[in-house]
Amino acid sequence: MKVIVLGAGIIGTSTAWFLNQQGHEVTVIERQPGAAQETSFANGGQISVSHAEPWANPSAPLKVLKWLGKEDAPLLFRPRADWLQWRWGLQFLRECTQQRTNHNIRQIVAIAEYSRQTLLEVRASTGIEYDSLSKGILHFYTDQKEFDSSLPAARLMRELGCPRVSISADEVIKKEPALAGMRQQIVGGDFTATDESGDVYKFTTGLARKAAECGVIFQYNTNVTRLLSAGCDSDATVTGVEIIDAQGRHQVLHADAFVVAMGSFSQALLKPLGIPLMIYPGKGYSATYPVTNQAGAPTISLTDDGYKLVVSRLGDRLRVAGTCEINGYSRELNNARCEAITRRTKELFPDACDYTAPVYWTGLRPLTPSNVPYIGKTKYSNLFLNTGHGTLGWTMGVGSGRAIADIISGVMPEVDFAFTGIERPTRIAL
Ligand SMILES: Cc1cc2nc3c(=O)[nH]c(=O)nc-3n(C[C@H](O)[C@H](O)[C@H](O)COP(=O)(O)OP(=O)(O)OC[C@H]3O[C@@H](n4cnc5c(N)ncnc54)[C@H](O)[C@@H]3O)c2cc1C
Repeated sequence: MKVIVLGAGIIGTSTAWFLNQQGHEVTVIERQPGAAQETSFANGGQISVSHAEPWANPSAPLKVLKWLGKEDAPLLFRPRADWLQWRWGLQFLRECTQQRTNHNIRQIVAIAEYSRQTLLEVRASTGIEYDSLSKGILHFYTDQKEFDSSLPAARLMRELGCPRVSISADEVIKKEPALAGMRQQIVGGDFTATDESGDVYKFTTGLARKAAECGVIFQYNTNVTRLLSAGCDSDATVTGVEIIDAQGRHQVLHADAFVVAMGSFSQALLKPLGIPLMIYPGKGYSATYPVTNQAGAPTISLTDDGYKLVVSRLGDRLRVAGTCEINGYSRELNNARCEAITRRTKELFPDACDYTAPVYWTGLRPLTPSNVPYIGKTKYSNLFLNTGHGTLGWTMGVGSGRAIADIISGVMPEVDFAFTGIERPTRIAL
């Protein structure tokens, strides 16, 4: 079958890889000059199955209210005259009940664990190098109330099969001696040995190279402008995708099937087709510093719960990422936010890095209110979704690629997940 994949982030590239491995003829359309140049460029690097709790949870509404208008808040909702933003916000509130949170955690853990295992297989079979570290993720807390409320979440994760173990402050320092200077502030932590970290950009570009060697065509510098459709109800199909190519020419490309993997931009493409995706961009920041003192730098991936920052060691670089602004599609760097990240990183690891020339970056997380992505079918028989991976696209990405390739090939994916358009109790056909 001839399949066109729209978008070459971690999600589109993984999709293209598995479709190719299953014998399909694949073309990827991407507006950037290469793969992984938007949200999959400089994220936090964590493959964190064990911290699948979505932002929408029972404690979120109060926190979001408290943080309103605070420039360096971990999660900042900036109200705009934007209908989609308000509808997204209301849906987010609906996802904050304990029942919905538990349901969403189960979905995310299922696809994330499947993805972690799939990533291990792809790493072994392709040999792609991406500064991966398989030493677990250590999440530390500086607020007793937050630590106490993490204990039931850790229990739930263990019930779901994630070996997330709650540990004392002394054990935190034993696991990561670079945090010794913070001993007085740390109240406890949890550690998951099976979680990992690595550079999503190196992985995605490595996979795109391998896929191209296997025959996938990557058409870069090409803007997707519209999907064309025909028929209605059960006969509806997508007949082509309208693009503007690198030379500025309009064209329509045809295929047997189309997969939308355009991250935060998927929603606008699909709206004219009557497919109401609830995806809103969640702007996040990262800072990358060169490590200049091995002894002072962390050697495992960390999450600083108080500041909602993740820290990953990517070879001789330290990547620190976090914060979220619900404020439209701008990727502008806000100095207050950048400086807050560097201030906190210096506090944690004063001698680890050269802090004089940080590389700051922003990316738009394709957030669904529940943080559960859309993977599966639509009401158009040959149009498929793989998008909306929010805060965990690196964690869920490779498995999502395999799952959608299975669905397109007519095979039920191995993972028990609420795929769109497939008989499962919780998702409706879009
Ligand atoms: C600060 C930050 C930290 C994060 N940390 C982590 C982490 O530690 N672990 C984790 O699991 N996840 C993390 N994430 C989330 C993760 O990075 C995303 O979920 C993931 O990158 C989304 O991948 P994607 O392929 O869906 O989107 P993208 O990478 O954005 O890919 C979509 C592609 O579609 C292309 N595109 C869009 N519109 C068009 C068009 N009209 N025509 C042609 N091409 C188009 C874009 O150019 C882009 O390449 C983080 C995100 C941020 C912002």
